[in-house]
Amino acid sequence: MPYKTNQDTRSTGNPWVPSIDAFKGGSLSGDIQCDYLIIGAGFTGLSIAYNLLKQFGQEKKVVLIDSHTLGSGASGRNSGMLGPGIGAPFHRLEKKFGPEKARTMFQHTLDAVDSSIALIKREAFDCDLTVGSQFKVSTNSSNDQQLRLESDALHRNGFELNTYDEHSVQAIVNGPRYRYALEYSNTATINPVKLLRALAEKITALGGEIILNSACTELEEGHAWVGKKRINFERAVISMNGFSHSLGIQKGRVIPVSTSLMMSSPLSEQQRQQLALKTENAVIDNRKIFNYFRLTADNRLIFGGGAPFYSTSGIIAEQRRGSDGPGSVYKELSAGVNKYLPDLTGLHIEKVWTGTIGVTLDNFPVISSYRKSIDSVIGWCGHGLALSLAYGAAYAQQQKESSSQTGLYWHRKKAPYLSPIPLLPIASNSYIRYLNIMDNLRGG
Ligand SMILES: Cc1cc2nc3c(=O)[nH]c(=O)nc-3n(C[C@H](O)[C@H](O)[C@H](O)COP(=O)(O)OP(=O)(O)OC[C@H]3O[C@@H](n4cnc5c(N)ncnc54)[C@H](O)[C@@H]3O)c2cc1C
Repeated sequence: MPYKTNQDTRSTGNPWVPSIDAFKGGSLSGDIQCDYLIIGAGFTGLSIAYNLLKQFGQEKKVVLIDSHTLGSGASGRNSGMLGPGIGAPFHRLEKKFGPEKARTMFQHTLDAVDSSIALIKREAFDCDLTVGSQFKVSTNSSNDQQLRLESDALHRNGFELNTYDEHSVQAIVNGPRYRYALEYSNTATINPVKLLRALAEKITALGGEIILNSACTELEEGHAWVGKKRINFERAVISMNGFSHSLGIQKGRVIPVSTSLMMSSPLSEQQRQQLALKTENAVIDNRKIFNYFRLTADNRLIFGGGAPFYSTSGIIAEQRRGSDGPGSVYKELSAGVNKYLPDLTGLHIEKVWTGTIGVTLDNFPVISSYRKSIDSVIGWCGHGLALSLAYGAAYAQQQKESSSQTGLYWHRKKAPYLSPIPLLPIASNSYIRYLNIMDNLRGG
């Protein structure tokens, strides 16, 4: 399969980045004072800033800083699939937490998708919003059984969803290996970079200040340092997700992990027919190390997943420079296309890229108070788009009510501990390798 990187976008490795680069933000000329300082301008930080400004208007000064450009972490690099789910498949949540708690958790994620779509519509954010369905598909007898258990548990708990057998799943996507599908309806796809920019412009219009290329280097009760410049705050929120360890937050607990995507040229009419996937639908397979895909508004295939890997500081620097990631990434993603979408021929891949997410051992985020005046909202794992986008409204509400109690499981002091820092790369990569072997033993 040919692979050619588009020279126009090679400087970023991410086709959507030029639209973010056009957003410049303000600059930090000296020490400043604010009511709320938000550290990290991904969807979590932007959502919190937007909602605080909506809640308090000009009454509170809201400042958002980022070490790099807008959305230069996971938010500007993801596949733009807004779907439900958190922690584990529903039947496992039910087993671990009991039906009531599991229902609350899952409903929370459905609400996050709804409120994200509602926000985009209400503010008329131009981000190629396409509402449709997300299909979870099985690929072998083992994950097929798991998917059926999940769908039974969801039905039993009153969640309405369609399921598809081996034959009818082919009408959703032409993937001969797919055995069964579960449909989450009213999900959506977006162009995340367009949304980041629209949100950032709205925040600025509401009176918020976004300061880019300004890394927080030290954080204390009531003040933060950006190099030698000091920012005094009443309250701060750390929204640095997979980069939080650089400030010593949830070290060894929220692990920086790289995941990968590639994007094709626009598909021809013949390729659209070979794929048989509607633009409004997205597909995720049910393996432990899974693939997922969707079409963009201009009919490009975005295909992602494969084995993630620990993000060393060198890998993060490469991502920021716009590297395509190791050659193995393209090889693995291409192998995924060939294996699961074998009838799709002549695919021309234009771009490959990786991004760093914050992963916890139990796959739940961790929302906590780091210090008396500092909150931390991180560890969204692989499915944080809708959740991080929706989170700001809950945060602003809590601030208004001066409360910190939500009752949600992931509002907790700490995520589970994986290993001491020097062993993290080995521990993380070994665990990922183990999951991959399990999938392969079960037939892929
Ligand atoms: C390839 C890929 C595909 C994905 N696909 C999906 C998907 O389809 N659906 C889904 O739900 N989720 C997906 N995700 C996950 C989703 O993108 C994340 O969960 C979400 O974007 C997290 O947003 P965030 O704002 O918390 O973190 P980030 O976007 O990572 O933001 C953290 C920010 O903190 C900044 N920062 C770091 N250090 C400092 C510092 N010292 N000072 C100031 N700022 C700092 C970073 O520059 C960054 O901008 C995907 C992720 C990747 C990488």
